[in-house]
Amino acid sequence: MVNESGLRRDVRALVARSWDPNLSLREWRTILVDSGWAVPSWPERWHGRGLPAWADGIVRDELRACGAVWSVPSGLAGPTILEQGPDDVRERFLRPLLTGEEVWCQLFSEPSAGSDLAGLTSTAILDGDEWVVNGQKVWNTSAHHADFGMLLARTDWDVPKHEGLTYFALPMHQPGVEVRPLRQMNFHSSFNEVFMTDARIPRAWVVGAPNRGWTAALATLAHERSFSILGRTDTRGVTEGRALAELRVEAAESAKVYSWYPQRAGRADLAIPHAHEVGRGADPVVRQEIARLVSLQRIGQWTAERATAARRLGRPPGPEGSIGKLALSTLARQAHRVHTMLAGAHGLLAGNDDGAPFGGIVAEILISTPAQSIAGGTDEVQRNILGEKALGLPKEPDAFRGVAYRDARAR
Ligand SMILES: Cc1cc2nc3c(=O)[nH]c(=O)nc-3n(C[C@H](O)[C@H](O)[C@H](O)COP(=O)(O)OP(=O)(O)OC[C@H]3O[C@@H](n4cnc5c(N)ncnc54)[C@H](O)[C@@H]3O)c2cc1C
Repeated sequence: MVNESGLRRDVRALVARSWDPNLSLREWRTILVDSGWAVPSWPERWHGRGLPAWADGIVRDELRACGAVWSVPSGLAGPTILEQGPDDVRERFLRPLLTGEEVWCQLFSEPSAGSDLAGLTSTAILDGDEWVVNGQKVWNTSAHHADFGMLLARTDWDVPKHEGLTYFALPMHQPGVEVRPLRQMNFHSSFNEVFMTDARIPRAWVVGAPNRGWTAALATLAHERSFSILGRTDTRGVTEGRALAELRVEAAESAKVYSWYPQRAGRADLAIPHAHEVGRGADPVVRQEIARLVSLQRIGQWTAERATAARRLGRPPGPEGSIGKLALSTLARQAHRVHTMLAGAHGLLAGNDDGAPFGGIVAEILISTPAQSIAGGTDEVQRNILGEKALGLPKEPDAFRGVAYRDARAR
């Protein structure tokens, strides 16, 4: 039976034995992965130690306390492949994903399939030992950096829409895959369109099983909504050296894509400084709106803590993922409202414009917060999930239930 103090002692022994701040980041991650300490809650066969979920956090904290780097880029693909298999896919992909050698993006959404994801039309056809894929994806965060895509594509048109999907590992660096960056209204460029024209995938690179892609996709979405993505980077207390320097470069590169995400969340932290800056800290209407904002923020934090506690107990992602996601959207909208109230027309001034509040950050908040209630499933979709899965309400009516997707589209 593992206990916290024994675990910390084992981590300190590992650090004494193997950590050297001048290892390359890849070398150190390889040591962590090969010794099972990268994600200790994963099974021993798959680079872990079969420990309870709470052990991951303890190991991460103890490594940092010893001055060692902890950063494991397992993202959404890691837990999905671990859960869904099969073994040869786990064998091929989990290790390079944990060591950071292979980076993944998510290729789910299409121009006419976002909320109705199962209605997608990108198609994969088996041709000998390869799948051949044609179609278009959109909104694909970081696809321009990725080595592999978590691709959801249709493999059977003659069954109901959820039953004819397959989840693939698509190699991004090939002639049949074209990635075109999109320019956003907040001037950042996190997303891409991805065009697949006779793109090729080895026959065995199916996550889960052919035509069972919907189950695997739900696993990815549940992790996306439940804040359970591993790989966040915290370098406080880590000893200076090559590993840390390389981690900083890697984190800065990925931060370019995510640099507007704090603004997307509404920047509740700036509300009180903003009120003081414009001399309205004593205005009762402003104070009331800020109090509402802070209350929402606290409630959101507690929901996130509940989700973390459930994960530590080894429970699968549950409705708290959808509740937490809705809470973040509500918070972002309230922060947007407060900033608008305080900045007035000046809030529209961007970047270096004279008088732009907080160097244009408020302008960025105002045009970035809508993304919060769209990414990872819109607010309405979260409410539908909660209604059906948590409250037991009837499912949305579907005139095409049980109808082959080819016929449903023709009608
Ligand atoms: C910041 C960000 C990052 C993203 N990253 C990725 C990524 O990496 N990979 C990827 O594949 N996708 C990504 N997406 C896409 C995202 O998953 C979709 O935008 C989202 O699922 C909504 O789909 P849509 O844009 O097609 O909107 P639509 O589905 O067309 O929805 C339009 C409106 O209709 C409402 N609506 C739709 N259906 C229902 C319903 N049944 N009941 C009630 N209301 C409904 C919606 O709530 C919304 O208000 C990202 C999006 C954002 C904003």
